[in-house]
Amino acid sequence: MLLTLRCRLLSPQLSKMFRSLPHPQKSHPSSLTFGASISQQPNCPYASAAKGQRPAALSESTKFVRTVLFVPPGVNPDDVTDDMILPGSNIVLGPYAGEAKVKDVDFVKSSNRPKDCPKDDRPEFAMLGRSNVGKSSLINFLVRKKEVALTSKRPGKTQLINHFLVNKSWYIVDLPGYGFANAPESARMDWSSFTKGYFLNRETLVSVLLLIDASVPPQKIDLDCANWLGRNNISMTFVFTKCDKMKGGKGRRPDENIRNFLELMKENYRQHPPWIMTSSITGLGRDELLLHMSQLRNYWDSEETN
Ligand code: GDP
Repeated sequence: MLLTLRCRLLSPQLSKMFRSLPHPQKSHPSSLTFGASISQQPNCPYASAAKGQRPAALSESTKFVRTVLFVPPGVNPDDVTDDMILPGSNIVLGPYAGEAKVKDVDFVKSSNRPKDCPKDDRPEFAMLGRSNVGKSSLINFLVRKKEVALTSKRPGKTQLINHFLVNKSWYIVDLPGYGFANAPESARMDWSSFTKGYFLNRETLVSVLLLIDASVPPQKIDLDCANWLGRNNISMTFVFTKCDKMKGGKGRRPDENIRNFLELMKENYRQHPPWIMTSSITGLGRDELLLHMSQLRNYWDSEETN
């Protein structure tokens, strides 16, 4: 069951699966309606997608990105139109998207072994990335609480899995950063067995948010990590951080770095995993990422209850 679900959330297999998935008929708590803040705005780009209407025009850009889109459960890839694609991402918004507001967040516990993690069946998203990628900033920015993610800010020294409970119903999990520039070799080696154990055994893991710094060119360690997750059938979303950083001089711009990263990943995937651009400074991508998480979560919930 778990393996099946993970495979279903893994994008390389999605388009195949979704063609055969019927449009969800039954109502699921918070799954088939969009948050008022999004769907009820008259000019909101997602409004017609939320109501299930199909806009007539299909632009050239949609035709192009269609080849790399992440199409979620409940959406026929042939029905995707521009206004269903979340800006700054390849993610199509589908009928499972629901409540995406963060009302409250509580720190639950720090675990130093995967088997010490909370033992309940709430779905969770794991945040993973190189040290300094902007993980703490992203977590604080998602939950809009300063210092929520400070607990884990001791790179290379303490390796802890930190669980934060959001809206009393799902978890954000802060995992130790990898690739610490100054960490001793032993700390770097520990990361793999420690964190890999979590990925392979955590039954309630809906998806890994793999954070990639868009202000620097693709890094081998990030590509290795993404490939390892892919090989192990672990659902992931690439969350590009620091997309506000427009480098002058020789440095490449975030959009170029992202394109290069995705190009390198393309060699290993028939279809791109979902990806999204964010900035903890400008707020870019926050609402979109929360919506994406809501649709993965609601789909996961609906599969669990079936
Ligand atoms: P962590 O080690 O992955 O938890 O990274 P932090 O959240 O501590 O961020 C590392 C550094 O990157 C800090 O100096 C942050 O201010 C900076 N940073 C984080 N997010 C962003 C962002 O979106 N844009 C920019 N320009 N800097 C960021």
